Order: sequence, then structure tokens, then C-alpha cells
Amino acid sequence: MSILVFLEPHGDGLKRTSYEAITAALSIADGAPVAGIVFNASAQQIATAGEYGLTRVLNVAGDQWSALPNAQMSAVVAEAASSIGAKVVLLGANSTGKNLAPRVAVRLSAGLLADCVELHNSASSLEATRPVYAGKALVRVKATTAVTVATLRPNLFTAKSTGGAAPSVSEFAPSSDAASVPSMRVTNVMRNEGQLDVSEADIIVSGGRGLKGPEHFNLIEGLAKSLGAAVGASRAVVDAGWRPHREQVGQTGKTVSPTMYVACGISGAVQHLAGMSSSKIIVAINKDKDAPIFSVADYGIVGDVFEVLPRLTPAIAAVTGKS
Ligand SMILES: Cc1cc2nc3c(=O)[nH]c(=O)nc-3n(C[C@H](O)[C@H](O)[C@H](O)COP(=O)(O)OP(=O)(O)OC[C@H]3O[C@@H](n4cnc5c(N)ncnc54)[C@H](O)[C@@H]3O)c2cc1C
Repeated sequence: MSILVFLEPHGDGLKRTSYEAITAALSIADGAPVAGIVFNASAQQIATAGEYGLTRVLNVAGDQWSALPNAQMSAVVAEAASSIGAKVVLLGANSTGKNLAPRVAVRLSAGLLADCVELHNSASSLEATRPVYAGKALVRVKATTAVTVATLRPNLFTAKSTGGAAPSVSEFAPSSDAASVPSMRVTNVMRNEGQLDVSEADIIVSGGRGLKGPEHFNLIEGLAKSLGAAVGASRAVVDAGWRPHREQVGQTGKTVSPTMYVACGISGAVQHLAGMSSSKIIVAINKDKDAPIFSVADYGIVGDVFEVLPRLTPAIAAVTGKS
């Protein structure tokens, strides 16, 4: 089952979801070839893929391929997959991967296994475990198509360094068909510099209605800073206009699986749990000892956020040196 992994450049390397996808691909490849595809990456960025065991990368180079809209990018990824005879295409289930995967699947007449939390080695086709019913149940699914596209939930597939050498790189020149897919044009990309995105953060500190108002979110931001974490929010506070929607965690927000999730003044409604219950460690701070969030928490503090956070944050900052 040869595999194509979608790689996303980020800083001097690639996004963590890309390394996770490489490790996942190698774990199911069973000796079959695994290649990566990346758009306009530098040699330094591509070299980091080798550290996780990838030996071959197709680089789509050229300014015309930067900041491509999803319709064109997916056409190129599908073309690359066909050109190397890939039976599986793996992408991280972050915003880019979620956007591209269905489009790639349509182009390849492939089955789509979305938001997988586990992949299973199977000689003939890809099998995966994925959540259904907003995370209340897990199903094991098997693709019945010749080619399968799968997205991997971030942070659940541990990226394992193999210390490998830089992969061999070949330039992939898409056909004019891919370049001419009718689409919009991206004219400007604005980045939230310095702000960690909840869907990719290793630690998230989220605040809910228990914070009483937007003016008290400095308590959440302070704790997040001391931990090097991203700030998240419940829907109640997003709907109230206290926080932007990009921070919303849950069924109608983002699905996250950080190493640690700290829920402050959040009740733990089922729709919130749907977005964060696969976090590795859950810490809850709530003044109601019967709040449902405690049923999923590994550690809990029954207390008032206005008393707990001003004491907790400096204590953590003293250890981490971040304030
Ligand atoms: C279709 C649908 C989709 C939804 N999608 C989402 C979603 O994506 N994400 C999401 O979050 N919700 C979602 N919701 C809403 C969800 O049902 C809850 O209403 C919401 O999560 C509640 O937010 P909250 O926990 O901040 O507020 P509340 O439920 O009001 O809880 C506030 C908590 O703060 C505690 N508290 C109060 N004061 C303090 C204090 N001083 N110190 C410590 N604790 C304190 C209280 O004990 C309480 O547990 C959805 C609902 C529907 C119907």
C-alpha cells in the first residue's frame, strides 16, 4: 500500500501534524513506499521530514504554487498521488487537511476516512478508528475503494524521530489541468503572529461563563502564558461576544487533543466535551463539585477561578519562567 503524506511547511520545519502523519504512514506501510508532497518548501524544511523517517519528497516549487486556494492544491495533490500510484493519502485533520481531504478524495474517487484516531495495518486496504456521534462512540471503518484518503486527528499519533537523513527531493510539476482548476485567488494571507491556534497547541487553557465577563479573561491569558498554552473558550462565551470564534472548542467549534487541557469555569456540556475529551490530561477548575467537567477530568480543583487562578498562575510561572 504505497502512501502519499501531505506536508505543511511551518517556520524552519513542518507542522507537527505532518510529522505525525509521516510516523503513522510508516507504521502501516509494511515496507511499501512512503512519499511526501509539499508546496514551495525550503531544503531546510524538507530535511526535517527525514528526521522522522521519510525518504522521498515531491516538492511543488514555484511562486505560482504559493498560497494556492484549496481547489487547486487538492487537484495537485490528487495528481501527485496518481503519478506515484499511491493507494493511501494521509493528511493531518487540521484546517488545511480538513479542507483538502474531501476534494482530493473526490478527484481520486477515493473513500474518505476523516478524523482518524487510530490506523490499522491491513494488507489490502486501510482500516481506521474514528469518533462518531460527537465523540460518544468510536467506529472501526474499512475503505472499500482502490484509493483511500484519511485525515489524522492532531496530537493522537505521536511523531517519532528516527534521526534519518534528509529525504531525496524531486520537483513535481503539476499539469496545466491542475493549474487551471476554476477557483478563487488568494490575494493576501494574514497570520495571527504570536497567537497559538487551539487546534494545534500542545496545551490549552480555556475559559467559560464562570469568568463572568470578557474583562476577566486576562486570568485565562495569564495562565496560558505561564504554560506556553493557547487560549480556548466555550461556546457560551463566544456567543456572548467575549471571545472570537476561532477559540471555540466543541461540537460547533474546534476539535482538540492537546497534551493538557485546562478548563476554567466551564460546566462540561456534552457539546464542549465533544471537542476536547480526547485530550491526554484534563484539568478542571470549577466551583461546583458536581459540574460534569469533573467526570472527564484527571485533576480537578473545586474552587472559585477568581481565587484559584491568581494563585496558580504565579506558582506555575515561577517554575516555567514564563510570565
Ligand atoms: C447544537 C449545539 C452545539 C453546541 N456547540 C458547542 C461547542 O462547540 N462548544 C461549547 O462549549 N458549547 C457548545 N454548545 C453549548 C453547550 O451546550 C453549553 O451551553 C456551553 O458549553 C456552556 O458553556 P460554559 O460551560 O462556559 O457555561 P455554563 O454552562 O454556564 O457553565 C459555567 C460553569 O462555570 C462554573 N462557575 C461559575 N462561576 C465560577 C467561578 N467563579 N469559579 C469557578 N467556576 C465557576 C459553573 O459552576 C458552571 O459549571 C452547543 C450547544 C448546542 C445546542
